[in-house]
Amino acid sequence: MNEYIDSLRSQGKLNISIDKSKTFTWKYTKIAGPCSVEGPDIVDIARRIKSIGANAFRAGAYKPCTYPILNETNGWKEGLRQEGLDLLKIVKSETDMPIVTEVMDARMIDTVGEVADVFQIGTRNFQNYTLLDELGKTKKPVLLKRGTWGTIDEILGACERILVGGNENIAICLRGVVGMPSYRHVFSTIRWAPDIMMIPALKELTNIPVIYDPSHSTGYRNFVKPISRAAIAAGADGLILECHPNPSKSISDAAQAIDYNTLEDILNG
Ligand code: PEP
Ligand code: MN
Repeated sequence: MNEYIDSLRSQGKLNISIDKSKTFTWKYTKIAGPCSVEGPDIVDIARRIKSIGANAFRAGAYKPCTYPILNETNGWKEGLRQEGLDLLKIVKSETDMPIVTEVMDARMIDTVGEVADVFQIGTRNFQNYTLLDELGKTKKPVLLKRGTWGTIDEILGACERILVGGNENIAICLRGVVGMPSYRHVFSTIRWAPDIMMIPALKELTNIPVIYDPSHSTGYRNFVKPISRAAIAAGADGLILECHPNPSKSISDAAQAIDYNTLEDILNG
């Protein structure tokens, strides 16, 4: 432990997250699915992804995009929203897969919670304290995605907010950060820098499980497998992967979506 972290502890600002005698349980280690729910074929997609070996299914019904999406395409406007949740309910009853899906707003916790087994907090809401405080009062697992700007103490501080509310069922998701635009003139879809070193850094301070997201952190499907391997080698407890039956046709995040064969290779290769 270092002096800075010790000072936060002595001020009562970080206690639970950095208690190394504490253990956390987290069973969702192979999370896969498309970026967003796009339509009724989501049920077949989930069946296939389950058969490949994922132990949780991801898909967003509510999708906060970088720029506002003004027009609907077949009902999709920053997600299928309630219709997306209804489809995820069918996925759950047909496949028995645990559902990981984003909740964007504290007022939506009950509605999203009707189908979500794991609440995903998106990078844009990493320090939305109203949302984190309310999720602390639930008992449901929370996958907290690191804000693209988040420092290590801010990551722990955000976790601590959920923990002090009484919910210890959490995992940190690393999904790439700002910086290093060195690839963009050649690989135009790369937006974030993979944050692999944060895995061992967090492991020094906390036992909170760390799930790595090689899809958003690379932004390019050809890099998803190597960065998945790197994350596991660096000590990640699991992966969350964007996978689509026809990757280049994904409504959102097409460039980073992998196909079923690549998913199979990453999970079982
Ligand atoms: C997502 O998982 O599809 C997503 C929107 O991720 P992030 O919040 O990390 O951008
Ligand atoms: Mn996405």
